[in-house]
Amino acid sequence: MKKSWALDIDCPNCAAKLEDALSRLPGVETINVDYVRKTVTLTAPDADFDQVAEAMLRKAVQVEPDARIFEAESTSAHGAASAGHKPHNHEHGCDCGHGHHHEHGCDCGNEHNHHHGHTEDGKDSWLQTHALLLRAGVTAALLLIGALLLDGVPATAVLVLGYLLISYDVLLKAGRNIGRGQIFDENFLMTVASIGAMLMGDCAEGIAVMLLYQVGEWFQDKAVDKSRASIAGLMDIRPDYANLLTDGTVTQVSPAQVRVGDSILIKPGEKVPLDGLVLTGVSSLNTVALTGEALPRDVSEGDSVISGCVNLSGTLTVRVTSAYGESTVAKILDLVENSGAAKAQTERFITRFSRVYTPLVCLGAALLAVVPSLFDGQWLEWTRRALTFLVISCPCALVISVPLTFFSGIGAASRKGILVKGASYLETLAHLDTMVFDKTGTLTQGSFTVTSIQAADGDQDRLLELAALAESYSDHPISKSLQAAYGKPLDISRVGQAEETAGRGVKAMVDGEAIYAGNDRLMADLGLAPAPCQEPGTVVHIARKDRYLGHIVISDVIKPNAAAAMGDLKAAGIHRLVMLTGDRQPVAEHIAAKLALTEFHAELLPEDKVSRMEALLHEGGKTAFCGDGINDAPVLRRADLGIAMGALGSDAAIEAADVVLMDDDPLKLPLAIRIARRTLRIARQNIVFALGIKLLVLLLGALGIANMWLAVVADVGVAMLAILNAMRAMRIR
Ligand code: ADP
Ligand code: MG
Repeated sequence: MKKSWALDIDCPNCAAKLEDALSRLPGVETINVDYVRKTVTLTAPDADFDQVAEAMLRKAVQVEPDARIFEAESTSAHGAASAGHKPHNHEHGCDCGHGHHHEHGCDCGNEHNHHHGHTEDGKDSWLQTHALLLRAGVTAALLLIGALLLDGVPATAVLVLGYLLISYDVLLKAGRNIGRGQIFDENFLMTVASIGAMLMGDCAEGIAVMLLYQVGEWFQDKAVDKSRASIAGLMDIRPDYANLLTDGTVTQVSPAQVRVGDSILIKPGEKVPLDGLVLTGVSSLNTVALTGEALPRDVSEGDSVISGCVNLSGTLTVRVTSAYGESTVAKILDLVENSGAAKAQTERFITRFSRVYTPLVCLGAALLAVVPSLFDGQWLEWTRRALTFLVISCPCALVISVPLTFFSGIGAASRKGILVKGASYLETLAHLDTMVFDKTGTLTQGSFTVTSIQAADGDQDRLLELAALAESYSDHPISKSLQAAYGKPLDISRVGQAEETAGRGVKAMVDGEAIYAGNDRLMADLGLAPAPCQEPGTVVHIARKDRYLGHIVISDVIKPNAAAAMGDLKAAGIHRLVMLTGDRQPVAEHIAAKLALTEFHAELLPEDKVSRMEALLHEGGKTAFCGDGINDAPVLRRADLGIAMGALGSDAAIEAADVVLMDDDPLKLPLAIRIARRTLRIARQNIVFALGIKLLVLLLGALGIANMWLAVVADVGVAMLAILNAMRAMRIR
């Protein structure tokens, strides 16, 4: 079983430490503490899930008393649709012994860090958000007065007052954390560094360092919050309300309250809140929020509408066909919200690295203070230099900016209708060598036109009618095309039990008789051997149990963008483009030639496609499979990366794939690769940049060139720049 909570935690490094501690608890299968999305996700065996969750929550407060975990309202589940969080039964507030004046927040003196410490109206007051800046202002004034205007004891008194004002919360936290044996805690290290500087006679430096640190953290926090909000905004397709129609009156309700079969009213400009069928009205829908493409789609009576689209022109009455939890929008949101779980290797590396980074820098500081002093006896000078090290001991810039970069890359992709289920898939996408395709609906449009009909008894119309009836229960592109080709409304009551065999065709009872429609293989199963068809195209044979009735030749067209997409993929360095299809050899040959694919395999059953995929995987390199989710879910799962196309409406595809393309434009593939590579490049830049600057400052500090001021400025500055750089991953040309 798996469950997510909302998390309020103030430092990214603490989130990493928390995850580490929680992962060691007995019974925990996986735990994901996501600082960027502010969630904790636990998987544990169903049987003792409640106990494990209880233990996890208890442990969390022990490890990070400032962390608060709430029961989150899930989007997809049966809860309401609002984005709010309700407090968890066990109020995991802070235990710092100070007055609690927020609704479910706590006041440990670090108001600036509380993103969710809201007052009743849901907003922090101006004073709460800016308390730190006020403190900083007063401290700066005291610093000036103490350093420039006063001397002796009054000066010291004013400076100490200033110091306490700006740093009391850091001091308190440091004290509490030492009590719990956490010495490599940034609060503690900042305390040691600043008090050390003051004791060595440089009061102004001690205060300035704390001042810069606090103000820097404040801005860093705000920057992360802002980025988080704008990325989340990119992905927000959540409908706020539905206009429920009951006996001619309209009431505005939450989409979650609407039941299947209810009627809702959708006015122009409103979001479609739930999936349904149009009862009355004509309008066009904008799918841009879902697909990234602003193509209006015309709908009228009888057409289906998908939640998340925006109604552009007319008013529609719609009969709801699935509850909110099952709707397209809820499924997409669920996927997006869980995209933090599949962490990229780069992210995992950073987490591991950050665990050793702080102790290493502290060790370096200790050595720097002691070793050279043994030779030259200049203890004071070397200690001063060592204290500079402590200021650079927090790996914050890395720990925030790398996950934030991935999050913003995922956000950018989703804006284009490319849903990526986790940063690790973004990584695979960036490193692909081989791309394997399904044919129908992926490279071709999947809407076949009839090119010829050969009925054994000469009655072509009746043969097409029989085929359309037999196919009436299937969602396969062939079935849909035959129904469309028949053109007239089908009398479904004539069709009894129907079953479909993947890669072969369908069998259905029509007018009380078993009718088969499918390929050569299906006919062979029946012991029938129709004469080979010379015409190019896909052949659908129709037979009764013992009698061959004739065949229909249909043909599909290649998607207009397919050739361009294949060209782009090759240009992007994906040299191997493979097509796997269940269709006939000549059809496959024609398409492979048209698209300049490097290889193709035809007449495959779904299980053959899996074994072909396995052979390709065996040859090495990263291999993606791209299909429409119809008959190819097993291959989608098997590939290094499963990409489902045209997911608007297909649940199977959304579930089986790692990357979901909301529409079926093949050009989204090279686009996805570009976004992935850019995101990875930015993540790498951030790592190199942050580590490079830190190393440089360490070096300058050891040489006595950089003082503590510079160290703080560099530390905070690097974090800010890395956050800004991370945001670049959000923009795509
Ligand atoms: P593709 O590899 O092109 O996506 P599938 O694996 O879905 O194709 O199907 C392979 C072949 O099986 C089709 O070309 C067709 O001959 C036959 N087939 C599959 N489903 C059906 C169906 N519903 N009706 C008729 N024929 C079908
Ligand atoms: Mg297919």
